[in-house]
Amino acid sequence: MHDKEKNILCPQNICELEALPMDAEGLVKDFAHHYFHHLGRDRFCRNIRYHYQAIAYTIRERLIERWNNTRYAYINANTKTGYYLSLEFLMGRALGNAVLNLGLDEPAAEAMQQLGLHLEDLADQEIDAGLGNGGLGRLAACFLDSCATLQLPVMGYGIRYEYGMFRQRIEDGRQVEEPDHWLRDGNPWEMERPEYTQRVRFGGRCETRRNDDGTVSFCWLDTHDVFAVPYDLPIPGYRNGTVNTLRLWKAAATDVFDLEEFNAGSYTESVAMKNEAENITMVLYPNDASENGKALRLRQQYFLASASLQDVLQRWISRQGKTFAHFAERNCFQLNDTHPSCAVPELMRLLMDEQGLTWDEAWQITTRTMAYTNHTLLPEALEKWSVPLFRQLMPRLLEIILEINARFLGEVASRWPGDSERLRNMSIIEEGEVQQVRMAYLAIVGSFSVNGVAALHSELLVQGLFRDFYELWPEKFNNKTNGVTPRRWLARCNPGLTRLLTARIGDGFVADLSKISEAVRFADDPEFRREWHDVKRANKERLAALVQEQCGVTFNPDSLFDVQVKRIHEYKRQLLNVLHVIHLYDRIKRGDTDGWTDRCVLIGGKAAPGYYMAKLIIKLINNVARVVNEDPVVGDRLKVAFLPNYRVTAMEVICPGTDLSEQISTAGKEASGTGNMKFMMNGAITIGTLDGANIEIREEVGDENFFVFGLTAEEVERERRNYNPAGIVAADPDLERVMQLLTSGHFNMFEKGIFDPIVKAIMSPHDPWMVAADFRSFVRAQRQAAEAYQDREAWVRMSIVNSARSGKFSTDRTISEYNEGIWHLRPVDPEAKG
Ligand SMILES: *Cc1c(COP(=O)(O)O)cnc(C)c1O
Repeated sequence: MHDKEKNILCPQNICELEALPMDAEGLVKDFAHHYFHHLGRDRFCRNIRYHYQAIAYTIRERLIERWNNTRYAYINANTKTGYYLSLEFLMGRALGNAVLNLGLDEPAAEAMQQLGLHLEDLADQEIDAGLGNGGLGRLAACFLDSCATLQLPVMGYGIRYEYGMFRQRIEDGRQVEEPDHWLRDGNPWEMERPEYTQRVRFGGRCETRRNDDGTVSFCWLDTHDVFAVPYDLPIPGYRNGTVNTLRLWKAAATDVFDLEEFNAGSYTESVAMKNEAENITMVLYPNDASENGKALRLRQQYFLASASLQDVLQRWISRQGKTFAHFAERNCFQLNDTHPSCAVPELMRLLMDEQGLTWDEAWQITTRTMAYTNHTLLPEALEKWSVPLFRQLMPRLLEIILEINARFLGEVASRWPGDSERLRNMSIIEEGEVQQVRMAYLAIVGSFSVNGVAALHSELLVQGLFRDFYELWPEKFNNKTNGVTPRRWLARCNPGLTRLLTARIGDGFVADLSKISEAVRFADDPEFRREWHDVKRANKERLAALVQEQCGVTFNPDSLFDVQVKRIHEYKRQLLNVLHVIHLYDRIKRGDTDGWTDRCVLIGGKAAPGYYMAKLIIKLINNVARVVNEDPVVGDRLKVAFLPNYRVTAMEVICPGTDLSEQISTAGKEASGTGNMKFMMNGAITIGTLDGANIEIREEVGDENFFVFGLTAEEVERERRNYNPAGIVAADPDLERVMQLLTSGHFNMFEKGIFDPIVKAIMSPHDPWMVAADFRSFVRAQRQAAEAYQDREAWVRMSIVNSARSGKFSTDRTISEYNEGIWHLRPVDPEAKG
């Protein structure tokens, strides 16, 4: 048993701890205790922030009970453990989720009512934990929820960024970034665990020493060390007694009190060193699906990998002793993209240099415990780090990578003798003016499993990017289609729909979303349809209120709510959406409005601060919105709004209130998408390309419940060769007028020429996103959607069918597949008797 887990003070030694009460009376009592005695507030304090904190601590202690029980159950079961390593966890708020998963929603609401408070007002005080950019980070958060709900012993490892994803303001139509100091008022959900602090080394140099017995040992000397201090967050399963752990590392200086070594003059330098150490976890890099070669980012990656692996090894040694024969059977690491892939050489280093294993022993263990998930096909998003940077920051790691590569290339050479081109193509080290470490190749070589995140994506990976590796090791490659957790993305964010579904099919669908298919039976029941419509209508009013408050634009809930929210990126083609909006505006201005469907278009998302085109697209959306919304001729027929600061908490209001979900990426570019699944689950109908998980969504709902358009991935690559946007524009009068409005400066009367780069991008034969190619087909699909919306009964039916067919897109299904295909963990029920 772990030294620090010995029963120094087991509950029996103190007293039999009684389970905390789960009823409203008990909650009121504990709330009062925290409010008055813990937080030290009094009855005259009017600041609702302390009411939030008091309820958070009240809920937290109920989590802690179950957290401890879960840990004891895992230790007793002595079973295999999974670790999800990710540089991002986009958690959002914790209170509402904890209340839901503990089954406290009714007693907690009642308790607050007794105190003259509203639970949801308190919940609104919480700042999102925005420790991620977008889909990849939110996936990690949904995965943790599903692991806990399936009672799998899985621990998340990540970084406790002092500043999460920036807050986005819109000023004069342009994005302005503000730092997100989310920890300023403290975080009641985290537990600092300084007793599990680890030491991470950087810099220095390597030495090889010949020992007396002829063996060699490797030393990494003169390093600059940083402490990694863990902060644990509880991850509750859905009403099952399980609470898992997300462990986030904060960097802290090691040498601050080592001042004797410095003379008086070095004092300030010494304190400055402290800053440098603590900078490592200061800020999340706000680039989604693109890379930059910043040293600090590589430091973050190694810091996470090293601290997490040392933590796992320390626990292993304290429980099993210094023997690693069974380590690989009992541990599994899932790498969320290549960001944590330093874990491959770091595990080798720890096992060899610190535990004395041979290369072969360490390699066996590493390649039986590491599994890698790829998240993108975009070449610019494939991570590469320069060899000199690696040598400077982690010289010992570079040595190990070079040795891994040498042995790997030996394997390639014996499989394909004389094929030097293949060697060059597959090498972990890319040759060139400056050598680069290809992190994806390092991850593939070091892992026993490589997966994509949707069927098309996984197929394109083995046909394209990773083709050579697939030829060498076909058995490594597999698909795990993404999902979202139905707790946050249905039960929590859409209580109206949840009540309605529960009344008809029971509440089993929350823990087992496949059961939501039972709702299809009611798709033709007029009473159910009416109720469904009323719920959607109320959710649209809630969304309209948010748009009114945040954008000052009035959305009429009778209109079609047409929504595209996601990171702003050219491949996601917000630009195509804008072209359609301009086309609708042009139709209104020309009086072409027979059979018109009123429409409210909502677009939201953050652009990477250095991504010029993405920021210009935000400006265009805002300028078009202003012209459209201020034109009295347009009226209620068309409204356009850009919602600032898109984040998890905003999506919880947006997806339940959406009619039409825009998933319009260039086919072959969106690995999966998960926003598409949240919308579908909440009864929105997708207008989308045959890309990522859209394909599987369409398979589930059927062609008649999905507005498909655009080139297929295959067609995109074929058409690319003789792509001629000028010809397309000339042949399409609608698109020609849209381009005319853009080039004439209609949306930038007093900002001459600012949108020229956008026009140029659309008109370029080398436009990688082929915006013009899909315009006609997009407009046609949009027209079908607008017409379909006028038949309210038919639309409501489509909406019901979309929700009812969303069972596949629960992360419970995704995680079950990870477990059956990759992890092989045994569920542990902490409440099981005996
Ligand atoms: C779900 C989600 C995403 C991912 O959306 P996509 O449309 O799949 O890109 C990004 N950000 C937030 C806040 C989300 O909730």
